[in-house]
Amino acid sequence: MILYQLKCAHDHEFEAWFRDSADFDLQAGQGVIVCPYCADNTISKALMSPNLKAKKPDPDHISQVASRMRRQMNSLRQHVSEHADYVGQDFPEEARRIHYKEAEERGIYGEASPKDVRELLEEGVEVFPLPPAPEEQN
Ligand SMILES: [Zn+2]
Repeated sequence: MILYQLKCAHDHEFEAWFRDSADFDLQAGQGVIVCPYCADNTISKALMSPNLKAKKPDPDHISQVASRMRRQMNSLRQHVSEHADYVGQDFPEEARRIHYKEAEERGIYGEASPKDVRELLEEGVEVFPLPPAPEEQN
């Protein structure tokens, strides 16, 4: 068995096992290998260069993740508002301070633009977009 690092036409990288390189060629030729991120079946072998791997943030992927999390968080918003500190417009700043250990580690929630969220995700700060609370939907 061989583990290949693969990538799709949209540069999503993922790993898959094959019996041998001919098995990969066969499956790729039949279009039965699909990208787990976008279901693209134009798959090629990615270059194995772990040290040079510059992970370009993929806005499409981030927004897909964000919308999935938004659905999940819908039911959790109540829980969050009861167990986390509301920091309002300071959210991006406070999330960074906690991430870089400049502030006490705790759950916070607040306001952030999609751009803020994207920048935080790119910095590796774990943030979850929450749906607006009913009273905020004016
Ligand atoms: Zn893909």
